[in-house]
Amino acid sequence: MSLARVVEAAGIALTPHGKDLLGLCPFHADHDPSLVITPSKNLWHCLGACQRGGSVIDWVMLIEAVSFQHAVELLLSDYAPAALHAPVAGALPPGAPAPCIP
Ligand SMILES: [Zn+2]
Repeated sequence: MSLARVVEAAGIALTPHGKDLLGLCPFHADHDPSLVITPSKNLWHCLGACQRGGSVIDWVMLIEAVSFQHAVELLLSDYAPAALHAPVAGALPPGAPAPCIP
């Protein structure tokens, strides 16, 4: 389960910053992006007021206000299918002409 996808499914825009992604933390009144996502580790943490962080499971627990068990169940089921099935940025829509690759 990609943490970045789950975070974006919560409506948080992520901006690449080196190997990390930055976004506004939804767990405190954030005006300066203090939410750091590390895709390579699938971990997140907030450098701002709330100092929260953890794995994708911790994220779902906080954003959905559910127990650990429930968060795992959400992730095992089709969590945020709309976001997970969204086309990757830059991908061609179905039916578009194939790109010319030499
Ligand atoms: Zn925060």
